[in-house]
Amino acid sequence: MNRADVIIIGGGVIGSSLAYNLLNDGFTGKIILFEKDCLYEFASTPRSAGGFRQLFTTRVNMELSKYSLQIYKNFEKTMEVDGEEAEIDFKQRGYLLLATEEMMSQFEKHLKLQNDNGISSQLLQKQELLNIIPELMIDDLSGGLYCAESGYLDPYSVMQGYIKCSKKLGAEYIYNEVDSLLIDQDHMKGVCLADGTEYYAPVVVNCAGAWASFLSEKAGLPLPVVPLPRQIFHFDVETHLKKHLPLTVDPTGVYFRHEGGKYISGYAEEIEPKIDFKWRRSAFIENIWPILAHRIPNFEKLKIERGWAGLYDYNTKDQNAILGEHPSMNGYYVAFGFSGHGMQQAPAVGKCLSELIRTGKYETLDLTPLRIERFTENQLVQEDAIY
Ligand SMILES: Cc1cc2nc3c(=O)[nH]c(=O)nc-3n(C[C@H](O)[C@H](O)[C@H](O)COP(=O)(O)OP(=O)(O)OC[C@H]3O[C@@H](n4cnc5c(N)ncnc54)[C@H](O)[C@@H]3O)c2cc1C
Repeated sequence: MNRADVIIIGGGVIGSSLAYNLLNDGFTGKIILFEKDCLYEFASTPRSAGGFRQLFTTRVNMELSKYSLQIYKNFEKTMEVDGEEAEIDFKQRGYLLLATEEMMSQFEKHLKLQNDNGISSQLLQKQELLNIIPELMIDDLSGGLYCAESGYLDPYSVMQGYIKCSKKLGAEYIYNEVDSLLIDQDHMKGVCLADGTEYYAPVVVNCAGAWASFLSEKAGLPLPVVPLPRQIFHFDVETHLKKHLPLTVDPTGVYFRHEGGKYISGYAEEIEPKIDFKWRRSAFIENIWPILAHRIPNFEKLKIERGWAGLYDYNTKDQNAILGEHPSMNGYYVAFGFSGHGMQQAPAVGKCLSELIRTGKYETLDLTPLRIERFTENQLVQEDAIY
């Protein structure tokens, strides 16, 4: 009863993508996934901005995005269950990074890297920005880096798509909290739940997002990831924009996009790591609104309708995912530390981790740059495009 071949901790988009990919790739063993929050009230996935971009600068992040884009484009049909399509509302309205004069030379370098890696990004000059956002205030801009086939999607629906398919293929979801990892010297034995029940498996994958590093640390296997609060604000305006927005990032780091007929916005607040789900209207009024109103005059008159806060599983060393088997614990795999770009990488991460667990090596993409050992080997993944 309490035995499995693979135990996954955390049923957000990462854990559920992994469960799906393992089974879809032909894994015949028993998979048990533990999820402590059956409504996903505090999970990061449903609280994400849903942005999808390929505008990265490291090969590994570009490859993850390219693969994931192909999956998201066909997600509705591929993930159909019992005749019901998995709608994810993927709007390929583009991803636009606005640039001041000083930023342009850096973006030229990024453009070359992206184009060399098969990503069709473009460097737009100042006036060309108006073709995309006619109302944009461009006086203090020189241009922007743009990728037309990116955009945004509904993260909750992506997660539900993976959950439904995983269950259909045979994954067992148990809605209970894992308290600790069970270890026998240098290999995984299983997990102990908060109610004291033990479950055994030779492979345990920690996909617990912003809570993952606590579990790892408790087992004496610390990794440099902390929970970092991020807020999102939903607003409406008096005068709407002529065209749909790409996911647009201002040079200040404030980002905005359409959400249905309205808008959402957020920014990288400087804040202490902690578990905190409070959103503050004052943060929007003081830190975001002036920037929005400056950039698009239509945003001068707006009404905040609601807001929310979620947690980044923030990798303090290089802000990128940590993936793979722990070098000093056989059978202990991790997939966390995504730092704000996990939702978009979930399809590729699930696929590649499934390969690593089933066959011992990556096949589709080489994700070894994201290995745990990079911290001791001083081989950090230096990604310039972190927002
Ligand atoms: C405000 C905000 C905006 C974001 N915007 C974007 C974006 O635009 N694009 C993008 O790609 N990414 C974005 N992200 C990041 C993205 O949401 C995450 O990288 C991604 O959702 C991580 O998925 P996950 O499955 O690892 O984590 P989660 O969705 O948090 O899932 C982890 C699950 O583990 C469960 N869990 C934790 N501990 C235990 C335990 N001990 N026992 C059992 N279950 C446990 C939790 O309940 C949770 O459901 C954003 C994040 C936030 C907060």
